[in-house]
Amino acid sequence: MENSIVLKQVRFLAVVIFAGVQNIGIREIVTKKTMNKLEVEKFKNSSLWRRTLRPEKLRQQPSCETCHIKGKLTEASAVEFIIKLEDGGDRFDYSNMISLCKRCQIIKTAEANRNR
Ligand SMILES: [Zn+2]
Repeated sequence: MENSIVLKQVRFLAVVIFAGVQNIGIREIVTKKTMNKLEVEKFKNSSLWRRTLRPEKLRQQPSCETCHIKGKLTEASAVEFIIKLEDGGDRFDYSNMISLCKRCQIIKTAEANRNR
């Protein structure tokens, strides 16, 4: 009789601990700072990025920011992260995103790959 109560408590504790471990796992994924290449690829294919974050950034900043510095007005067609997600950049922070035209995006990507 007493044994089964202890057993129940042990089982309950095990469930709590397991849930706790799982929670930590979920929190880590949500708050994790750096992403590997595959995670970045997955994120950039997600509807959160394609349907929400990216269009919202282009709505806020519809012209190319690099061209703007050079005094040119060019329509932006791409959004890149200033601090790359692989380097711990914030994927939800619009100030960590830069609107670029096709040409400036190609240049930025080439530069980023060279510096790697
Ligand atoms: Zn540009």
